[in-house]
Amino acid sequence: MIRFTKFLLTSVALCSLLSLPARAELDVAKLKTTIEASVENDYPKLDALYKDIHAHPEIAFQEVKTAAKLAAEMRAIGFEVTEQVGKTGLVAIYRNGDGPTIMVRTELDALPMEEKTGLPYASHDKTNWNGRETPVAHSCGHDIHMASWVGTAKTLVGLKDQWHGTLMFIAQPAEEEIAGAKAMLDDGLFTRFPKPDAGFALHDGASAYGTVSYRVGIGSSNQDGLFIRFHGRGGHGAMPQNTIDPVMIAARFVVDVQSVISREKDPTEFGVISIGAIHGGTAGNIIPDSALVVGTIRSFKPEVRAKMLAGIERTAKAVAAMADAPPPDIKLDEGAKAVMNDSAVVATAEKVLKAAFGDKIRTTPPNTTSEDYSEYVNAGVPSMFFNIGVYEPERVAAARKGGPPLPPNHSPLFAPVPKPTIETGVTAMTLAVLSAFDQRARGP
Ligand SMILES: [Zn+2]
Ligand SMILES: [Zn+2]
Repeated sequence: MIRFTKFLLTSVALCSLLSLPARAELDVAKLKTTIEASVENDYPKLDALYKDIHAHPEIAFQEVKTAAKLAAEMRAIGFEVTEQVGKTGLVAIYRNGDGPTIMVRTELDALPMEEKTGLPYASHDKTNWNGRETPVAHSCGHDIHMASWVGTAKTLVGLKDQWHGTLMFIAQPAEEEIAGAKAMLDDGLFTRFPKPDAGFALHDGASAYGTVSYRVGIGSSNQDGLFIRFHGRGGHGAMPQNTIDPVMIAARFVVDVQSVISREKDPTEFGVISIGAIHGGTAGNIIPDSALVVGTIRSFKPEVRAKMLAGIERTAKAVAAMADAPPPDIKLDEGAKAVMNDSAVVATAEKVLKAAFGDKIRTTPPNTTSEDYSEYVNAGVPSMFFNIGVYEPERVAAARKGGPPLPPNHSPLFAPVPKPTIETGVTAMTLAVLSAFDQRARGP
């Protein structure tokens, strides 16, 4: 049974004296003040950790030093830490009596790109990526997530008389390659360690700091890759009758495949097929032997995704057959699945978050970008994935009125304002986790 004794209202205390059930709501305002004071106190250390990780980023599955820094922080807080789960991932466990297991996830990885923010703690690091020396930068803000993750762990341990159960803090590699969540699961994340009763993750973005946004239901898109090689028979551009022209077949495919979107898919459902590259041929007067088409497929719902994949395959085979060409080689790579927020977890957390953040919390439409947090959801962890802002509210307001646009995630200029962003991350995540413990303790 969870007890928020410090924060019980007097009337509730009286109720328990009178043997009425003590089903006190969380005193969110008081709890928020306590959390904020704790974060303020911890902030100098979190700031140093954030700037160190920001200045020394590591890309997918190379996050060895980053993971070691987080492992040291979590051990100092009192967590039991297992390293190298899913290559470079971490699992940190804190047991605090009987109760549910609540998971909080951060990513560890940065991006293979150059930072151009000019910040005093900007990254100048380079790494070897696909055989090339490449600059590395935390331009997706995963460093903010890591600092918030450590801050949340510290705050929850400080409040351990307020909840009972197990904290399972995981630090995941290679989110940007949509590979790290799967690597951790394949390495026994939910068999070697407890399977969480609920899970949370946050992502930062180019909105105002101090704000929190979330979605009910689908939060991000399914993402699949499309690689189709059309085969023909090469020859002279002046004598097409002696050839089978794969460039013509590829061109027809690029146009016709959009009819899967416009004619086969329900127009009220989200679905996109974009062809980002066509490779074929060398010179204007040579019809090549083959042409490669590369694209991306995005959707929210599994049934829409299945319809689009089937339509793409049928269209590719049909355009080849029309030209009397051999069947094409079709490779549809399964990428990230859509993140589906659990309605019960969201309903519990949103009550607390709304009480804490007032008009600074809002619901938003789903993102058309993708995220491999969905792997944990699909493995059976009911979850809530939410977003926090990183920029000065005045700059965001000015940008909305047509002023200078704010650099988004993956821009070389992406530059969160650390203190208010991390403080919001810790406060929102701590409250979300406490709401889940509280809900579980009360029962359905
Ligand atoms: Zn990213
Ligand atoms: Zn990201």
